[in-house]
Amino acid sequence: MSQVIARAATGDVPEVRTERGERAVFCGLTSIIWLHRRIQDAFFLVVGSRTCAHLLQSAAGVMIFAEPRFATAILGERDLAGMADCHEELDRVVAELLARRPDIRRLFLVGSCPSEVIKLDLANAAARLQGVHDNRLRISAFSGSGIETTFTQGEDQCLASMVPDLPELEAGNQRLMVVGTLADIVEEQFRRHFAQLGIDHVDFFPAARADDLPPVGPGTRLLLAQPFVSDTVQALCKRGAKVIPSLYPLGVQGTLAWFQAAAAEWGMDAESVSAALAIPVARAQKAVARVRENLKDKTIHFLPDSQLEIPLARFLRDECGMSLTEVATPYLDQALMTPELLQLGADVRLVEGSDLDSALARVRASRPDLTVCGMGIANPLEAEGLRTKWSIELIFTPVQGFDQVADLAGLFARPLARERQLEVGSWS
Ligand code: SF4
Repeated sequence: MSQVIARAATGDVPEVRTERGERAVFCGLTSIIWLHRRIQDAFFLVVGSRTCAHLLQSAAGVMIFAEPRFATAILGERDLAGMADCHEELDRVVAELLARRPDIRRLFLVGSCPSEVIKLDLANAAARLQGVHDNRLRISAFSGSGIETTFTQGEDQCLASMVPDLPELEAGNQRLMVVGTLADIVEEQFRRHFAQLGIDHVDFFPAARADDLPPVGPGTRLLLAQPFVSDTVQALCKRGAKVIPSLYPLGVQGTLAWFQAAAAEWGMDAESVSAALAIPVARAQKAVARVRENLKDKTIHFLPDSQLEIPLARFLRDECGMSLTEVATPYLDQALMTPELLQLGADVRLVEGSDLDSALARVRASRPDLTVCGMGIANPLEAEGLRTKWSIELIFTPVQGFDQVADLAGLFARPLARERQLEVGSWS
């Protein structure tokens, strides 16, 4: 932590270069894959095209382990030409769905590019359907359209759509709300650590059950588990909540700083937190040291994709000894990223937005040991002899917290190890 404080004191942050142009990022519908796993009694009804249905099926196909809780209501040519009443059709599909699935406690109507192009008002449709099915479940709408959202922004839109349903926190109470989807196993670990620190009033948003809606009000303190929840945070702040500025819980330093920031709100100093969490910290440091050997002195380049790029770059440089050739992120919310930017320091090349051709030209010029990018870009780069890591894997894998730190480092070490094996294989 001393390093964090030292940089914060100097106020050095990287200069941001902004690019606008072509991008190659999955749309917000992709977030349904991890959101439907997390909120175990929610159903996601996409109002879209066959392309949207194919995206979801191919992304989720290999991961489904139970009855699907998402589907696509496909807009036909008559709908797109304005010749059919889409709202009537939607009401019928929803009534059939809810009759068949009494277990569903939250229905999300999810907008797509086609529904956006024909200006189908899903927020109004959700309000109308809520009136019809009032006591049975909650219904809200959000956009996963590729015109408006990248894949992690889909989660932000989903969570923001739930904020109006959150109950009011009683005046005089103080509660901590952890915002952003986490794997169940990570939530369990975090709850244990919060209990060790004496912080008992903790809610996770979203929770595993749709009806577990955390209360919000002026006594709510927001601790962000994910950096891509800007709209959700804005909606929560409008209801009186306040953000606790912190690093994100990636890596040992990030996770410790995250707990220290939360505990400070409950009157606990940083040294007491370090003492209370000394065992998991030491275990995590030992675990990451083993993987560090495979990463140190390697160069890494982040193309803009997941919005996790900045905290990941900080972890890989400060704890794994990697060098950063460039860190690019599709969207930078300075307010939610200030502690990370201070920790990153001024000497990092930071890009916000995307212009695919110029970004790829810089990768080709610097030829880093590893490039973190979207799936569509990875194969062409691999064909040019560059090693890549799909950034979407970082969303699907539990990577936050002390106990996951070696797994997180391992995700970046594996492509490099594979390259070494290929080199050995080609000589033998
Ligand atoms: S929402 Fe748009 S980008 Fe996403 S799958 Fe549907 S058509 Fe494609």
